[in-house]
Amino acid sequence: MMQEQKSFAQHTTGSLYLVPTPIGNLQDMTPRALEILAHVDLIAAEDTRHTQQLLNYFEIETKQTSLHEHNWATKVPSLVDDLLNGTDIAQVSDAGMPSISDPGKELVAAALKADIAVIPLPGPSAGITALIASGLVPQPFYFHGFLPRKGKDQVAELTELAQRPETLVFYEAPHRLKYTLTNLVTVMGSQRPLVLARELTKRYEEFLRGTAGELLEWANSQPIRGEFVILVGGNPQPVQEEKRTDLPVNDAIDQLIAEGLKPNAAIKQVAKDRQLDRQLVYRQYHHLED
Ligand code: SAM
Repeated sequence: MMQEQKSFAQHTTGSLYLVPTPIGNLQDMTPRALEILAHVDLIAAEDTRHTQQLLNYFEIETKQTSLHEHNWATKVPSLVDDLLNGTDIAQVSDAGMPSISDPGKELVAAALKADIAVIPLPGPSAGITALIASGLVPQPFYFHGFLPRKGKDQVAELTELAQRPETLVFYEAPHRLKYTLTNLVTVMGSQRPLVLARELTKRYEEFLRGTAGELLEWANSQPIRGEFVILVGGNPQPVQEEKRTDLPVNDAIDQLIAEGLKPNAAIKQVAKDRQLDRQLVYRQYHHLED
C-alpha cells in the first residue's frame, strides 16, 4: 500500500531541500515541489529573475537569494549558518536538477559537513528524460554532461570515452553542436549510433536517431535551434587495456582503427596505454623511423 509521507522533515535545525524545476514544460512541476517551494523560508536560486517567473506562475511568494558559480564561495557559509539557525532552504537551478551540470554541489557538501538534513526531490532532468526514449541501451549508461570547450581538451576527453561500453550522455549548447558532433565523428567514427534529443518536454520536442555521420550531416544542413542532449551508443567491443597492451604497437593501433577510431586517436590511445611518446608511436606506425 502506498504510504503518505510528510513533505517536511521534523528537525530543529533547518533542512536543505533540492528541488528540480521544469526543463521546458511547467506542468512537470510536482505537487510536492510546489509545496516545498511555497513553505520553505528561503529559496537559493541560480538566477533569481529566472526563478521568479516560475514562482509568479504558481503564485508562490517565498523570498529568494542567488547562489551561482560566481558567488558560492561567500554565499555558502552564510546559507549554512541560516540552516543551522533553523531556516528551511530550497535550492533550485534554472532548469532540471540542481547540481546536474548546474550549481548546487558546494552547498550540499557544506550542509552535509554541518550535519544538516539534505532532502532531494525527484523530478525533471534532461539527460535521463532523453535516455529513456532514445532507443539506445538504457543501462549501464555514463552521464558526462558538458564536454570541455577547447578543441584539444574535447578531443582528448572523447578519445578516453570512445572505449567505454556504456551509452554516453552529453549536454551541449546549440551554437556548439556542429563543432562537437564533428569532433565526435573524428574520434569515434561515423558509424556510431547517435541520438539527438531536442527541446524535451516542449512544443517542438524531437528525437533524431541515426549514425554519428548522418546526424553531423543533418546538423550541417540547417540552422541549429533549441536545446539538445547528445546520446552515443557505447563501444560494443572495447578492447581490454591489458589485452591491447599484449599486442605489438602497430597491431594495437590497427585494432582500434577497426573498431571505429580515427588513426590519430588510435595512436594517441596506444601511446597513452603504454606511456609512450605520441610522436614516437606516430612515426613507428607510419614507418617514419628505422
Ligand atoms: N540541470 C539540468 C538537468 O538536470 O538536466 C541541466 C542544466 S544544463 C546548464 C543545460 C543543458 O541541459 C542544455 O545545454 C542541454 O544540453 C540540456 N537541456 C536542458 N533542457 C533541455 C531540453 N528541454 N531539451 C534538451 N536538452 C535540454
